[in-house]
Amino acid sequence: MKEQTQILQNIPVDELTGALSVPIYQTTNFVHDQPGHHKGFDYTRSGNPTRQVLEELIAKTERGTTGAAFASGMAAIDAVLRLLSSGDHVIAGNDIYGGTYRLLTTLAHRAGITTTFVDLHDPEAVTRAIEKKTKLIWIETPTNPLLRVINIAALARITRAHNLLLAVDNTFASPVSQKPLALGADIVVHSATKYICGHSDVISGLVVTKDESIGKEILFIQNASGAVLSPFESWLLIRGLETLELRVKQHSENALAVAKWLHSCPEVAEVFYPGLPSHEHYELARQQQRYFGGVVSFRLKYDTSTEATRVVTNTKLFKLAESLGGIKSLIAHPATMTHASIPASRHADFGITGGLIRLSVGLEDADDLIDDLSRALKAATGSAQTVNHLHVPNKVSIEC
Ligand code: PLP
Repeated sequence: MKEQTQILQNIPVDELTGALSVPIYQTTNFVHDQPGHHKGFDYTRSGNPTRQVLEELIAKTERGTTGAAFASGMAAIDAVLRLLSSGDHVIAGNDIYGGTYRLLTTLAHRAGITTTFVDLHDPEAVTRAIEKKTKLIWIETPTNPLLRVINIAALARITRAHNLLLAVDNTFASPVSQKPLALGADIVVHSATKYICGHSDVISGLVVTKDESIGKEILFIQNASGAVLSPFESWLLIRGLETLELRVKQHSENALAVAKWLHSCPEVAEVFYPGLPSHEHYELARQQQRYFGGVVSFRLKYDTSTEATRVVTNTKLFKLAESLGGIKSLIAHPATMTHASIPASRHADFGITGGLIRLSVGLEDADDLIDDLSRALKAATGSAQTVNHLHVPNKVSIEC
């Protein structure tokens, strides 16, 4: 069965009423028949029927056993780190999301958990970084903002050999594009705020585990620390999952058109998009992902924040905002926005320079998006940019 059909099939019809849309159980409490006897739910922090549908749906979509929904992507990441104890050690990619970097280097560090950041493309460096106390390897792929692709199966071989957990932040790829658990990972995390929500209106996070006992532990942490997703927001994410595949497909088609056009621009020094054959991990992305995704980054020829600021403040359709994965296109300046929580002294390690710009390509018409960027580049650099729309010839080219 195709992914889209499977997702729709896995959304249950309400047994009580036959409602086709999942009911929103907007309640904090559930009445007990007798003390200690209830219909499976007693208090919404511990469990809620609407949230449970979402949790089961994401578990099936990611091919795991257990799903847990959180009030943000960061709360989901925090829950995974709470599987560890003081004295444990984590290995993480050296170009992960700034918020994850901040969590690892501050709160987790204060709790006695240390982290080594390594280039996850170098298996020897990863193996060298393993210590007696290492418990977890943390991957994000594709990475933010350079869209580098990490080989999940290769890292899973290392974690299996050393009895470590492998966690993958699957936010950028989305669950319809990449299945980390099927490639050997143990845990998948999403900032569901992005593609799964898809409409820039719900801050949310999801965790899926392959192993049921780790899943139970995550559900315990979810209840004990309490950062649960509300019933209404759970319903919005169920609704987001219904159209996820269609959206990711269109985001990818638009992003490829924009990336190809940027590649031909004289003002642009480098384009980072795994769907371009020039990308360093094009072949790996084709093997590992189903779609190349909606995020495109590029470096201006005049690689300065001044030049980049002029570009990002001159687009009209691309709104200047953080985040990604929504239907409306966004433009961001990683050095001063999305990656500001990483010390400037470390920006070079992450490939973040003043002239780097990140786009979250939305669902507007690709030609209009290209016109918008063209006008902004022209206004910023004073050059006359000829718009040469490069249409994606057919559906095959947008799928990996
Ligand atoms: N992971 C990635 C890859 C992200 O880009 C983000 C946010 O931008 C997060 C996690 C954190 O998610 P949230 O903002 O929903 O807490």
